[in-house]
Amino acid sequence: MQQAPILLTPGPLTTSLATRTAMLTDWGSWDGSFNALTASVCADLLSIANGKTHHCCIPLQGSGTFAVEAALGTLVPRTGKILVLENGAYGQRMSKIARAIGRDLAVLSWPDGVAVDAQAVKAKLQSDPTITQIGLIHCETATGLLNPLPEIARIANDAGCELIVDAMSSFGALDIDVEALNLCAVIAASGKCLEGVPGMGFVIAKTAAIALAHGNSPSLALDLADQFEYLQRTGQWRFTPPTHVVAALRAALDQYLAEGGRATRLARYISNAKVLIERLKSAGLKLFLNEKLQAPIILTFHAPAHPDYQFAAFYAAMRERGFVLYPGKLTQIETFRVGCIGAIDSAQLEQAAHAIIDVLTQLNWLTPAAEKNHA
Ligand SMILES: *Cc1c(COP(=O)(O)O)cnc(C)c1O
Repeated sequence: MQQAPILLTPGPLTTSLATRTAMLTDWGSWDGSFNALTASVCADLLSIANGKTHHCCIPLQGSGTFAVEAALGTLVPRTGKILVLENGAYGQRMSKIARAIGRDLAVLSWPDGVAVDAQAVKAKLQSDPTITQIGLIHCETATGLLNPLPEIARIANDAGCELIVDAMSSFGALDIDVEALNLCAVIAASGKCLEGVPGMGFVIAKTAAIALAHGNSPSLALDLADQFEYLQRTGQWRFTPPTHVVAALRAALDQYLAEGGRATRLARYISNAKVLIERLKSAGLKLFLNEKLQAPIILTFHAPAHPDYQFAAFYAAMRERGFVLYPGKLTQIETFRVGCIGAIDSAQLEQAAHAIIDVLTQLNWLTPAAEKNHA
């Protein structure tokens, strides 16, 4: 069997052997030991967010988008109005969800690569007092940009609006304190910075907001108020849980805590990102974002300027060398993305950078100036 490739993607990502091994047991969903597993995972997720006092953790079957749709449907009242702050594909997806579930929607948008502007948000809230919730993407994975969460939280709190944060690609690595920021909800999933396998989302929500949210959801399966009520009453998931995913997440959390928790995880991702940026920059490749806005989660690079450049061929050559890259997600500009997250360290990112430069050189797609720089 060929060795598994290293996934340089924002999820599914490379997991550790211990995490994958945790999936070798079959669990009964009614069994007390599985209920204890769910409870311990939720307790740890709540601690990571500093949400033990006023928040609860509601797990949900499915990919991250299911949890975003569940959070909006449950927490935005039928008569409410959500202001979605868009600066990339995941912000646009949140607006699309709000439309799909029939919630009144306002949108503020910025171009790819431009951070959400807190002053514009403040002005919008002043001009439209019917807005009840704000939706923000913490790290916009489409580009890798880090939005100013504390500033937006302050403005939301001043205006008496609830803030719902899609922290899918940042939770567990970047600092998110739901208590200090008074966040209504933070949405994330098993298979990103926590380095579990994909299949489970979760929402850290204000317990008081969930208590008031019965009857809001337009969906049965995605009703978080109902899911939480059932979980509290029975210790079980409402419908068949992704048992192996939960077990893998338990193992991933054990490793997370043993590694030193959030600060240590962030430090590893920062050193991963640093190696990639330095190596690729010195080969003449340009980072798409202003470095000040760049989160150490996923990096977007401009594709080489060569007219023959094709991502598919670049991808295939990298795959051949054991690395899986991620395509760009910008409509106007040709880019490619490299993830810094997963059970990988800077030595592997060093090899990946080397492979990228080698492959692009062989394909003759690096500019002569860039090749000289590299040499
Ligand atoms: C990964 C991700 C999601 C969820 O995507 P799925 O494909 O449904 O897992 C949502 N928002 C952001 C910012 C993400 O990075």
